Amino acid sequence: MVMGELPEKVDLAVVGGGVGGYVAALRAAELGMRVALVDTEKRGGHCLNYACIPSTTLIHISDIFYEARNSEKFGIHADNVTLDAKKMYEWRMAVSKKLEEGVAYLCKANQIDVFKGTATFVSASKLQLTDGVDLEFRNAIIATGSLPTRIKGFEFDGKLVLDYKQALMLDYQPKSMVVVGAGYVAVEIGMLYAKLGTEVHIIARSDVLSRFDRDAVAVLKKRMEALGIKVHAGVAPESHDGGTVKLSDGSAISGDVIVVAVGLTPYTDDLGLENTKVERDPKGFVKVDAQLRTAESDILAVGDVIGEPMLAHKAMRQGVVAAEVASGMTTAYDNKAVPAVIFSDPEVAIVGSVEEKEGIKVKKFPLTALGRAIALDATAGFVKIAYNGDGIVEGVEIVSRNANAMIAEAALAIEMGASVEDIADTIHPHPTFSEAVQEAAEAAFGKPVHFFYGKE
Ligand SMILES: Cc1cc2nc3c(=O)[nH]c(=O)nc-3n(C[C@H](O)[C@H](O)[C@H](O)COP(=O)(O)OP(=O)(O)OC[C@H]3O[C@@H](n4cnc5c(N)ncnc54)[C@H](O)[C@@H]3O)c2cc1C
Repeated sequence: MVMGELPEKVDLAVVGGGVGGYVAALRAAELGMRVALVDTEKRGGHCLNYACIPSTTLIHISDIFYEARNSEKFGIHADNVTLDAKKMYEWRMAVSKKLEEGVAYLCKANQIDVFKGTATFVSASKLQLTDGVDLEFRNAIIATGSLPTRIKGFEFDGKLVLDYKQALMLDYQPKSMVVVGAGYVAVEIGMLYAKLGTEVHIIARSDVLSRFDRDAVAVLKKRMEALGIKVHAGVAPESHDGGTVKLSDGSAISGDVIVVAVGLTPYTDDLGLENTKVERDPKGFVKVDAQLRTAESDILAVGDVIGEPMLAHKAMRQGVVAAEVASGMTTAYDNKAVPAVIFSDPEVAIVGSVEEKEGIKVKKFPLTALGRAIALDATAGFVKIAYNGDGIVEGVEIVSRNANAMIAEAALAIEMGASVEDIADTIHPHPTFSEAVQEAAEAAFGKPVHFFYGKE
């Protein structure tokens, strides 16, 4: 759009074109609002260009590579399987480009005015864009996301010390890699490169995935060991000299690259929030109410910038809610369940809580008893289901191949207030991994089929 065409005042200005922002813009346009969407960088934000999509793309490639080299048990002998890292990189970049173009197409089709540049609030009703363009709005949505958290002494240089974006954009395969951090991003990146043949070290201040269920972590740790990943737990990185990282216990480890994956920090730099009444909490997250309104009621906020869980599907849901609220609807962000998936091997997917506590029982079905898992030699894992005294499902954890696809059933169950009986009596297709969810529910309901839990 050229400056002369700029509308006097838009109904909605969305700052940030990531999954939170562009979904909000699309929903608002569908509702008949005149919408402007501003992003400093690429449409689709981090998820499409640097995070979820690139990481799962590369994980898929690493799985194919690893399987091709490790399928003798199935009678497959594939000699000389090699990796063309440049080609892998080109595929990964092409996927992001295609998705970015898809977002651009949808914006155009919905007549959204898209601006490339940084937007700064100069008041509670006006943004100034790079180049000095003023954009007046009736409502605005802040969807500026997050950036990789930095640690002192490990400044990103894009060559030796990498953030997660750079680690997912390499056009060569490092021989060795030190991953600083042990959350889900660190585990995904570590496993993916280990499967490609990189020697991987993971540095964990306390332990790998310290905030996750230990039963799930035990399965992953076993797999990491089998992949040759060396976990250095209970130590902190102190400094580095080239690729050699000095640890707090006096030891040192080396890698061709050092990947720092210690979390995400909400991003509000350059936003000019000081020119509004919008408030942030001590961690820097923008504060919102149940309708995602900030302290300036015409300015809403969604996605990573408003807090945990920092996940794309949460941002998308909030984008829809914020657009509807801005259009005058009474929608609120009141979802009971936000599923989360670690794209590890096996995958770990969780929704709600599976912690055993007063009034909550937990039943676990092991994949060793599942036909499909035995056929695929993928029996490392289980499904846990937690339910209250009325049998209502409170949480589900799936540690399994295809867990990413199966967890949606559990999220729906929790949103609908379904019981373990509802899941147990629903016919699940055979032979599939999804039967494990049904089996866990059957056991919870007191009628286990393919696993003997002993006489109760
Ligand atoms: C390696 C990795 C893997 C991940 N994998 C998954 C996954 O598998 N599933 C999942 O659900 N989540 C995943 N996530 C998290 C997911 O990427 C984020 O939750 C999601 O991108 C948040 O979307 P958002 O719209 O809030 O912000 P972002 O995607 O960060 O988008 C914010 C946008 O705002 C723009 N912006 C910022 N300030 C301004 C300004 N002042 N003016 C104009 N534009 C501005 C930025 O350029 C950016 O494009 C992953 C994260 C990482 C790091």
